[in-house]
Amino acid sequence: MASQSILVPQLSTVPNHEGAASLMLRWLVHKNVVDGQLSTCCRGGNGMGYAIAEGARRVVRHPDRLPFDEKLNGLRIVTHRCIYTPQKGFLEEAGCPNCRREVGEPLFESLDEWYPGYTNNFTCPLCGFEDDINGFLFLQPCGFSNLGFIFEGWGEARFTEKFVADFAERLDWPVRQVEVHF
Ligand SMILES: [Zn+2]
Repeated sequence: MASQSILVPQLSTVPNHEGAASLMLRWLVHKNVVDGQLSTCCRGGNGMGYAIAEGARRVVRHPDRLPFDEKLNGLRIVTHRCIYTPQKGFLEEAGCPNCRREVGEPLFESLDEWYPGYTNNFTCPLCGFEDDINGFLFLQPCGFSNLGFIFEGWGEARFTEKFVADFAERLDWPVRQVEVHF
């Protein structure tokens, strides 16, 4: 039943992403969504993150499903290039926004070039349309960025649309919400 809600800017290379990470952390702490002190409350990395705080109840649709009683309940901010996809039942489908055809297979293969930073873009092999890989269409939301905000165990609680919109406004860039269920 483990789950994550991940907010990812729809941009491969966020300029000054370390600064953006600090800005967003300060905003989340100010709203009391997470605690400002690092603690061991996350999976992955070194397990360190910012634990859930009372204000989290105001930013989700189902506050009773928040992981207050869980050990893994915090926010981990990733500041290196990373690929975020749903885990269970992920179909690796993607569509071209120009010709509207299915390009999932070549797109996910192209991540071998994207991940080391050789490119930010993907080119549709069917029509030649090129854009940041985040500009393609994903029925199951995915994210590809050097910045990501992983909320550990928050998947069942569901962020409100207003919170996601406020988050994007504060970050000054559209974000995609990736839901991961293990
Ligand atoms: Zn195309």
